[in-house]
Amino acid sequence: MSNSRNTQDPVIMRPRKSRNKRKRRIKPIVTIAIILASAAIILSVVASKSLMNDKTGSSATVVSPQLESQKDNSTSSGPEAVQEGDNPADNSSNKDGNSDQPSSNTNSDDHGKQEEQDQGQGAQDPKDSGKDDSQADKDQGKNQTPADKNNDASKKPVEKDDQNNAKKVIYLTFDDGPGKFTSQIVKILNDNGIHATFFMVGGNLSGNEKAVKKAYEAGNYIGMHSMTHDKKKLYDHGSGPFIKEFQKEQGMMEEIIGTPPWLIRAPYGSAPMIDKKFRDDIVDAGFKMWDWTVDSMDWSYSKHPEKILQQVKKQVHRDREVILMHERSQTVKILPDVISYLKSKGYTFAVYKPDQHFSVNFAKDNRL
Ligand SMILES: [Zn+2]
Repeated sequence: MSNSRNTQDPVIMRPRKSRNKRKRRIKPIVTIAIILASAAIILSVVASKSLMNDKTGSSATVVSPQLESQKDNSTSSGPEAVQEGDNPADNSSNKDGNSDQPSSNTNSDDHGKQEEQDQGQGAQDPKDSGKDDSQADKDQGKNQTPADKNNDASKKPVEKDDQNNAKKVIYLTFDDGPGKFTSQIVKILNDNGIHATFFMVGGNLSGNEKAVKKAYEAGNYIGMHSMTHDKKKLYDHGSGPFIKEFQKEQGMMEEIIGTPPWLIRAPYGSAPMIDKKFRDDIVDAGFKMWDWTVDSMDWSYSKHPEKILQQVKKQVHRDREVILMHERSQTVKILPDVISYLKSKGYTFAVYKPDQHFSVNFAKDNRL
């Protein structure tokens, strides 16, 4: 109490002038005031001391809860107590200091990379085997956790391209073989790990049986392109001669590759020579008929193979393209560049499969 009396003195001194005038009457009030004032002073001194320990300024009151919990933490419970504290102020500090957050992101990133690698190498989980690539991609999307999706967003174009890859498919087709370029084309396809669809001329089979069989056994589809490739013979007398040529070729093909093909390509394309009645007869004979969506014009660029690539660049834009090419020397020269260009655009390559047939003909006749 003696301390508090000392501190009271300056307070009493200030209002002295007025107090002198009404000394007696005011005295009990002053006593009470002194007691209250001294209590207030003691409290404020204590409070200011604790603030001085922390920091001065208005932010001190905001900071202190955080410091409190850190103090608790250092004295009792260890680092985890701070990170799991209920104090909202702790959340902001956790973002900087909490090592759990970044490390879990890193794990997710690694997981994503692994998935990309698996896709790139064509490796699939056993559960995915038998599904095509696009289905596998869809499944992958379904299985993603929200965290994975966030990471995908931060990985950007790569992941998007990967998804587009599955949708964008090229069917390379080579007409007018077999011949001396058949094996070279098959080798380029093999080197690139892809397959193509061939439309071969029956009149060229003799002497090239081995090349045809090799192309087939490498995983390519061997379709038919008539016996003679002769415009007059094929189109000048109705559908009869046309169908007979293909039926004859079908028998020859079956002898070489062991199975009869059913997919044909009409020489010079199905338009304008093949009309509705003509198509009815082709349907009745059981054939399917492909034209194309992209004409590489390769037959016309014997001295400028680079123009074949230009044509492909100019015309390819759909998710699914069937590209017309021929077994020619300029085509062999530019083929590796055409394949790398299409790969760079996110396309994958597919070969015709009878059980996954889809229509590609100028008349948009879905029976063929
Ligand atoms: Zn042709």
